[in-house]
Amino acid sequence: MASIYIETFGCQMNEADSQYIADRAASAGYTVAEQAEDANVVIINTCTVRDNAERRAYGRIGHLKMLKDADPALKLVVTGCLAEQDRDSMQRRAPHIDAVFGTKELRQLGDTIARWREEFADSALSEERALIMPMGGAADCITDAFSHLRGFVTVQRGCSYYCTFCIVPHVRGRFDHRPMAEVLSEARQRVDEGAREIMLVGQTVNAYRDPVNNDDFAELCRRVAQISGLERLAFISPHPKDFNEKTLADLAQIPQLNPRVHLPLQSAGDSTLRRMNRKYTLAQFKEKVAWIHEYMPGAAITTDVIVGFPGETEEDFQATLDYVASGAFANAYMFIYSKRRGTPAAHWEQVPGPVASERFGRLAEAQNTVTRAYHDRKIGTTVRALIQGISRKDRSKLAARTLDNVTVIAPLPPDYDEQRYAREPWLDVSIDAAYVWGCAGTAVRRAERFAGVGVSLESPLVSLLTA
Ligand code: SF4
Repeated sequence: MASIYIETFGCQMNEADSQYIADRAASAGYTVAEQAEDANVVIINTCTVRDNAERRAYGRIGHLKMLKDADPALKLVVTGCLAEQDRDSMQRRAPHIDAVFGTKELRQLGDTIARWREEFADSALSEERALIMPMGGAADCITDAFSHLRGFVTVQRGCSYYCTFCIVPHVRGRFDHRPMAEVLSEARQRVDEGAREIMLVGQTVNAYRDPVNNDDFAELCRRVAQISGLERLAFISPHPKDFNEKTLADLAQIPQLNPRVHLPLQSAGDSTLRRMNRKYTLAQFKEKVAWIHEYMPGAAITTDVIVGFPGETEEDFQATLDYVASGAFANAYMFIYSKRRGTPAAHWEQVPGPVASERFGRLAEAQNTVTRAYHDRKIGTTVRALIQGISRKDRSKLAARTLDNVTVIAPLPPDYDEQRYAREPWLDVSIDAAYVWGCAGTAVRRAERFAGVGVSLESPLVSLLTA
């Protein structure tokens, strides 16, 4: 049977696109493979938001040449932001690639793999493949028994804000909001397929406007939450500028909304924010934070921070460090600025590498202390978390994620059965240890529904679950 392997780099937007490709492939008759060695078609969904992601993607494409050499019938396809950016040069640089599809060509990509399907109808994979070393890599989020539990639904493509460090508007174009009816229909389909949580995805998701009637993001969330059977709702990634008090108050009325808001700060230095073209000051950002605390008490706020942006002074950096150290964020994705071709900031005078690295070290230490303290507070409690699958670092453990987006791991329960746990995917985990990356504990109950009564793992034969 024909099979496809999809490897995803980068953000949730790419994960949503990979899920779409997997769906198209499945309806064309492919199975989804867990490793590249087992696939007729290999898709690399790339990211170019940071230099490192770009280098890793090219490294991976180069690595896969071995597989293509061993089996020329294999089709290697590259998509995503890097494919969009380098569409004219990519196949010159890596001639073993069969096709390149930009970010707006997913439909064509789906049509192409559907057409190829016939070529693989009866063909076995080349025996030469057996001679090559394992290729590594992970087809995250789309292959295992738990991958359908979280449904990514794209609500908008592109971005019109042109932050001076960001490549997204250049490769994905300006805002293109999907009609709400389309978003609702896809979300409904995901729920029908077993999704317990819907993640609405957009580069600036809360700038959403229905192109048909101009309904806003809060209205979109309200309508998605009305889908029968939907248990939890999350979204990524909002822009602080697009949160006003009313939007946050409206969102707070949605019972299924997860208690976590990702609010990308980038910097707390006003002059850096201005040069970044972020369209808010620190004071305005703090006002949004205050509204989140007021309307969603207890919600975790997470963020993104860039260190060493061109022109960042020690004073600017200190403002960021002070704000982070004050405990504003439960967690933060922190990066050292890296130049992106074609963006304004790439042409500006750069902060010397050692200075940026030293600042990054201080910032990471401060945030790690805050994050660890946030996780410490869960010790001694029992949290309900949605299973993600077997832990990649330790195959004897299950990984799950709480509503506030904290990873928890627990040893596989004695009655573990993949299919049953996929049907009853909410785990109650008694937390006994905390780390910067998350928490560890013991699974004590599982439940079919988030709001359902858990069934003790010691008595697997009798289900007391309620819908
Ligand atoms: S808001 Fe800024 S950082 Fe976010 S996608 Fe748009 S341009 Fe990039």
